[in-house]
Amino acid sequence: MEQTLSIIKPDGVSRNLVGEIIRRFEQAGLRVAAVRKLHLSAREAGDFYDVHRQRPFFGDLVSFMTSGPVVAMVLEGPGAIAKNRDLMGATNPKDAAKGTIRGDFSESIDANTVHGSDGPQTAAQEIAFFFARREIM
Ligand code: ATP
Ligand code: MG
Repeated sequence: MEQTLSIIKPDGVSRNLVGEIIRRFEQAGLRVAAVRKLHLSAREAGDFYDVHRQRPFFGDLVSFMTSGPVVAMVLEGPGAIAKNRDLMGATNPKDAAKGTIRGDFSESIDANTVHGSDGPQTAAQEIAFFFARREIM
């Protein structure tokens, strides 16, 4: 069993796509082990995406991620990290395949609807960023 962190970004939440996105996760065999809605501060969003701090798009990334509430969740299942990345599709929606979340719903590289951990170490760090152990079922 593997766990990963998923975030439904402000564009997904504001367009009422929370249920549709979770339905896709569940249909693919992932289980929601924890879930929480919150509005990130600029400091929190910057710390979460700390690895990108020196990149030219960092400012846009933080302002988009703080533009409205997000839904953070822990997804659990066999191969959850890779499975979630497959369901999400490519970072840039222009390159994302039809049938993926980004391919079907995303409008731009900033408003790309979902985040997913990219490896076991980031998954553990990102889960701990949002959830206490006792909040994960
Ligand atoms: P996420 O971490 O949000 O799941 P990702 O892992 O597919 O996305 P990353 O490379 O980690 O992609 O980039 C984090 C976010 O930064 C992307 O989701 C996107 O919104 C933004 N981003 C990444 N690369 C670029 C770029 N070249 N130009 C503009 N924004 C970018
Ligand atoms: Mg990433």
